[in-house]
Amino acid sequence: MQRYYFDHNATTPVAPEVLDAMLPYLRDVYGNASSIHNFGQQARLGVETARRQVASLLGCAPKDVVFTSGGTEADNLAVFGTVRAIHDRERHVITSNIEHPAVLNACEQLEREGAAITYLPVDSDGLVSVDDMSAALRPETALISIMHANNELGTIQPLAEISKIAVEAGVRFHTDGVQSCGKIPTRVKELGVDFFSLSGHKFYGAKGAGALYVRKGLQLEKVQYGGHHERDRRPGTENVPGIVGLGAAAELAEKHLVVEGERITALRDRLELDVLERIDECRVNGRGAPRVPNTTSIQFDHVEGEALLIALDLRGCAVSSGAACSSGAVEPSHVLIAAGLSRDQAKSTLRFSLGRQTTGEHTDALVKALIEVVSHLRALSPAYSKSAA
Ligand code: PLP
Repeated sequence: MQRYYFDHNATTPVAPEVLDAMLPYLRDVYGNASSIHNFGQQARLGVETARRQVASLLGCAPKDVVFTSGGTEADNLAVFGTVRAIHDRERHVITSNIEHPAVLNACEQLEREGAAITYLPVDSDGLVSVDDMSAALRPETALISIMHANNELGTIQPLAEISKIAVEAGVRFHTDGVQSCGKIPTRVKELGVDFFSLSGHKFYGAKGAGALYVRKGLQLEKVQYGGHHERDRRPGTENVPGIVGLGAAAELAEKHLVVEGERITALRDRLELDVLERIDECRVNGRGAPRVPNTTSIQFDHVEGEALLIALDLRGCAVSSGAACSSGAVEPSHVLIAAGLSRDQAKSTLRFSLGRQTTGEHTDALVKALIEVVSHLRALSPAYSKSAA
């Protein structure tokens, strides 16, 4: 059976160019990048080349890039590192209630440590309001952490406007750029951020390598303790092959950003139109906001998203649902609930995230499978027969 992958926001395949760049570092260049001898120096060269490649994508100086194990660690380093550096006064953080758990759960931990957190609501497109942001500021606000693009809706937050508020108030500004990096421009100076998190496996790098941009001169409290790697900001022997892959992925992303962005936007828009025209009672979430090119979140009324996901998988289409299994129960996504969907609407939502290999043939196959599967599942649904009667 031909298989089609529409879950690029979960992870992407490693690009062939990335694998080629990594292989020598898995096979031959095995030195520790901190070692002084030639083996170590070769590994160091790979790491520093990657730092320049990531810096070029972000439009920053290479020394402002701190390599981490991925997006979660980069988010934790920014959030804990900034807030825990303040010891002598009350601490307050502003974030949103649609952040990834890497930020939300870090904030919850800070609450347990005595910090106050404001979780901003979002509108039906998943956008925070800058007025809410201004109103939430307090003299003791230490950090604003608002994601760049949301992983489920794809909506892009107004970072430049938030940045103005942060600068005026003298507050540090972190953005989780894990779902925007490699998809839309992410030049940190234009975004106006102090910290930017990214993760290689979301843009055709390998899993286990990411980075945090830290604006020059900013203080970060240590989150992990160990050696003095990464200019004393992140201890631990560098994952040299992963970092080299991240660098290669960044270079590729920079090269293809515009053309690939236009191609995927056209594919995504056509997919949405086809679905809306050919399947009744469905809705695209977040359609009124600017979105990253590859993501669409679609609600199929009267269908259980999990059942839809499984039926699509059996027809070769891999997608993601608006619900996640937590402690044995299927819970609707916090993002969709925050955007105003009911529990049932959230549970009948699927996320389709396209990527570099996706073609029109793939999306046509998806639409065909969706038409069949949705009508089959609705035929079995008592709620649908009632509403159709
Ligand atoms: N932030 C966002 C918005 C994400 O989508 C993800 C992963 O899904 C992460 C952070 C975590 O990244 P990683 O898997 O590299 O830890």
